[in-house]
Amino acid sequence: MRKLASIQVVRETEPIANADAIERLRVLGWSVVGKKGEFRPGDKVVYCEIDSLLPERPEFEFLRPSSFKPAIVDGDTVLQRGGFRIKTIKLRGQVSQGICFPLSILPEGTGTEVGADVTDALQVIKYEPPVPAGLGGRVKGAFPAFLPKTDEIRVQVLEGVLARNRGNTFYITEKLDGTSFTAFLRDGEFGLCSRNQWLDETDQTNVLVRLSQSLDLPARLQSLRDRFGFQPAIQGEAIGPGIQGNKYGLARVELRVFNVLDINTYRLVDRDLWLAALDAVGLVPVPQLGELVLNHSVDELVGLAAGTSVLHPKVHREGLVFRPAIEQHDAEIGGRLSFKAINPQFLLKFDE
Ligand code: ATP
Ligand code: MN
Repeated sequence: MRKLASIQVVRETEPIANADAIERLRVLGWSVVGKKGEFRPGDKVVYCEIDSLLPERPEFEFLRPSSFKPAIVDGDTVLQRGGFRIKTIKLRGQVSQGICFPLSILPEGTGTEVGADVTDALQVIKYEPPVPAGLGGRVKGAFPAFLPKTDEIRVQVLEGVLARNRGNTFYITEKLDGTSFTAFLRDGEFGLCSRNQWLDETDQTNVLVRLSQSLDLPARLQSLRDRFGFQPAIQGEAIGPGIQGNKYGLARVELRVFNVLDINTYRLVDRDLWLAALDAVGLVPVPQLGELVLNHSVDELVGLAAGTSVLHPKVHREGLVFRPAIEQHDAEIGGRLSFKAINPQFLLKFDE
């Protein structure tokens, strides 16, 4: 689970050119702009990551003009309470991600060991943008337990993982900004899922259902199963009209796959095999951007994430995803070794 609010140590403070009142703080692998002199290197702070939605409390009121998001309601149901949304900003040319507070904002008795998760103690929740029309629809239930949900961890919290993997080779794909899509074929049953739900695959109002039909996915998954000898699930990003503003300017909704799974063994298939399997059944992978021998700091990887999309030369890409060609488990991540570096320029432009 992502720790939205946690106890961290300010590693460094650095001046920002032409700015007297603010400075740059380094917390984990993040750069955070703060008031000059408020914290010193070595100080413990409460650090809230981007995407935190802070509750309405007097201590946070200074954020109202820039950051208040009203509650999202559906009739009488509150889908998401209101609060202050922390996002990527730029101040005097310096990108700032997250916010630091003194430990005094914590309720009495909260543990303050470094790394402690204080998300719940502070009633911080994750800001989720409203779900656009066409992505809702009839569901069969929760995301199936026999499949992993798609997710990628941010490189800024993985300095230890980077250090341990120095010298190892990772392959890079472009992170696309669409919506997560999963399809599977299990004991003859075909199923479709969004990020968090098992969809009714007959609901024509759902854009993911229509995408699956246009790709004839049941037949392709059958062919994949027959040729490769395992019960498959594929996971990818649906992109195009009606999804995340169709940033790549596509004429129709398309799928770019980033995972192939062997359902019986609950295993993600290694890179060469998943690319071969997609090729064999005529499905398209996310853009493959080559390999890198890891010898990079967080800042360097975030620097590499800057650039434009393979799918549209004028659009900032969302970021990069890094993985070893042979799947690996990482104990610190608590799962698959795979992580993302998000392009700050993308967040500044699109993260509403
Ligand atoms: P966070 O986990 O940081 O809170 P989040 O849960 O909204 O953010 P994203 O930033 O959308 O997650 O990153 C994970 C998602 O990225 C995956 O669920 C997947 O749908 C999508 N994705 C897009 N392109 C790729 C790719 N090339 N490789 C892997 N995942 C990708
Ligand atoms: Mn996530």
